Amino acid sequence: MTDRCPTGLNEKLITAFLDGELTQGDEQRVRLHLESCSYCRELYTDLRRIRDAAMSTRFPAPPDDQWDERPRTRGSLAFRLLGWWLAIPWVIFVLAYAAREAWLGSHGAAGRVLVFGGIAAGTLLLVSALLDRLRDLKTDKYRGVNK
Ligand SMILES: [Zn+2]
Repeated sequence: MTDRCPTGLNEKLITAFLDGELTQGDEQRVRLHLESCSYCRELYTDLRRIRDAAMSTRFPAPPDDQWDERPRTRGSLAFRLLGWWLAIPWVIFVLAYAAREAWLGSHGAAGRVLVFGGIAAGTLLLVSALLDRLRDLKTDKYRGVNK
């Protein structure tokens, strides 16, 4: 293995390729080059590994122009999505459990109205927060498209 690209391909092209910032023509060129050049293929693999590690451990991105906003945004978006996917079933479970306990434990119509009024209010607040969240996600996606 050589210690530099035999055809002298600019390393910035590979970084841009990783970021998806190349034009279709350049992207095709880099893709073909990666297939034939083991040095650049290895560089690409290393860069991608570094990036994946940075994203999954949420290290702050180094202050380098090659590391733009998007990986961090995409990373935090993934964490937020995961958080919601964990939080929603948990809240539903807790509410269902509370409802069952309250129904079994409460006496008379007044007690049930009190308990279920609280649960209904909590559910509505949750749904409202969820709708806000979904709107944020849509905005994020839209922003991602526009870069
Ligand atoms: Zn090369």
